[in-house]
Amino acid sequence: MVAALDAEVLIVGAGPAGAAAGLDLARAGVSVLMLDRPDGSPGKPCAGGVTIKALARFRVDIGPVVRESVSAIDMSHAGRWPDRFEAPRTVCLMTHRPELDRLHRDAAVAAGVQSATLHGLAQVAQSGDGVSVTGKDGRVFRARWLIAADGAHSPVRRLVLGQPEGVTAVAIEGLLDRALCGADWPGMQLDFADQPGGYGWLFPKGDHVNVGLYSRNVRRHGVSRERLLDYARRRLGSDQLTCVQGYPIPVNADQRRITAGRVLFAGDAAGMAEALLGEGIYGALLSGQMAAAALLPGGLSSVAKASSATEVASRYEMLISSWRREVRVIRQLARAFYRTLPGGYALLRLGLHRPLMQGFAAGLTLVESKRVWLSPGTAADKPPGYRQTSGERRG
Ligand SMILES: Cc1cc2nc3c(=O)[nH]c(=O)nc-3n(C[C@H](O)[C@H](O)[C@H](O)COP(=O)(O)OP(=O)(O)OC[C@H]3O[C@@H](n4cnc5c(N)ncnc54)[C@H](O)[C@@H]3O)c2cc1C
Repeated sequence: MVAALDAEVLIVGAGPAGAAAGLDLARAGVSVLMLDRPDGSPGKPCAGGVTIKALARFRVDIGPVVRESVSAIDMSHAGRWPDRFEAPRTVCLMTHRPELDRLHRDAAVAAGVQSATLHGLAQVAQSGDGVSVTGKDGRVFRARWLIAADGAHSPVRRLVLGQPEGVTAVAIEGLLDRALCGADWPGMQLDFADQPGGYGWLFPKGDHVNVGLYSRNVRRHGVSRERLLDYARRRLGSDQLTCVQGYPIPVNADQRRITAGRVLFAGDAAGMAEALLGEGIYGALLSGQMAAAALLPGGLSSVAKASSATEVASRYEMLISSWRREVRVIRQLARAFYRTLPGGYALLRLGLHRPLMQGFAAGLTLVESKRVWLSPGTAADKPPGYRQTSGERRG
C-alpha cells in the first residue's frame, strides 16, 4: 500500500461490536480509526436489554445508563398461563440504546480511538498489506486491517462478499411514554403467542416502555406495525407508540464467512446474535473483542504487522469458534421451541425456567446453563464458569 495509513486498524460501525473492538485495540496502544454515519442518521432499533453475560463483556461501567434492573420475568402464552419466573439475582439490565452506545463510544474515544464520519460507502479495496475504504463523497481511509462492525445490512459485507444474507430473524419495536401507559407499570414481560414464530416483549425503562415483537425466521413469519400496535393496545392500553422501526437480526454466524482477506466481520455483520430471543449485544461485544484479540498476537502493542491475513483469520475463527457453534445449537433449540408452542412454554413452566433463570443470573450462555443443569452434583446456583459481574458488585 503506497499511500500513508490513517490508522493501523479501521473499524466501520460504532455499535457494540465496533466500540468493543476499538476499545480493546486502543487500550493495547494500537492506532484505530472508527467510522460511522453522520450524527442524526436514523438509529438502529434495539430494546437495550443487557443480559448479565453481556454486562460481563463491557470493559466500561454501564451503571450510569441503566434505567431498571430486572430479576423476574413475567411470561405468558396469548395472555394465558401467566407465570412469574424469578431469578436469584439480576438477570437483565434495561438501557436505552442511544445512551448505551454514546457511553460505549465515548469510552473508546477516551481510550484513544479516533472517530470520523463516513458519508455512505462506495468501495472497499484490498492490497497485499492494507485495505482502503472509500466513502460516497470520495474520501479515502487506509489501514492495515478493517473490522466491519456495520450491522445487519453491513454495506462492507455486500461490497466485499456480495453474499446473500441467509436465515435472519427480525424484530420491530416502538416506545410508549409512561404517561400514556394505561395499565399498571409493567415488569419485563414476554408473551410467546403475540407474534407467530417468536414473542412479544415489554421492557420498562423508567420514563417509557419499549414494546416489541420478535420473529426467529423472517421467511416464515414477518412482523408488522399493525400487529405491534394491537399488542401495545391490548397490553398497555395505548397504541401511541413513537420511534416504530423494524430491523433484521442475523442469527447464523456458524454459516457465514467471518473474514475476507484483511477484513474481519463482527457483530450483526457476521450473524453473531442468537435465535431464541434475538439477543445480539452479547455476540456483538464478544466478536468485536475477539476480532481485536486476533489482531494482537500475544498481546503485542503493535498490531499484527508481521501476521498474514490467513494467520489473523485463523486466530479469529479459533477465538470465536465456540460461540459460533453455540449460535447453531441455539438456532436448533429456538426452532424446536417455537414450532412446538404451546408445548415449549409448558416445559418452561414445568421447571425448565429454573436452570434458565439461574444461568441468566450467573452470566452463563444457554449452552453453558444446559451443561450445568445436566451435570449431576453441580451447584446450580454457583456453577463452574460462574462470573461475578460488575453489575452484581454494584448491587
Ligand atoms: C427491534 C430490536 C430489538 C433488539 N433488542 C435487543 C435487546 O434488547 N438486547 C440485545 O442484546 N439485542 C437486541 N437486539 C439485537 C441487537 O440490537 C444487535 O444484535 C446489536 O445491536 C448488534 O450490534 P452491532 O455492533 O453488530 O451492530 P449495530 O448495533 O447495528 O451497529 C452498527 C453500526 O454501524 C453503523 N453503520 C451502518 N452502516 C454504516 C455505513 N454505511 N457507514 C458507516 N457506519 C455504518 C451504524 O450506524 C451503527 O452504529 C435487538 C434488535 C432489534 C432489531
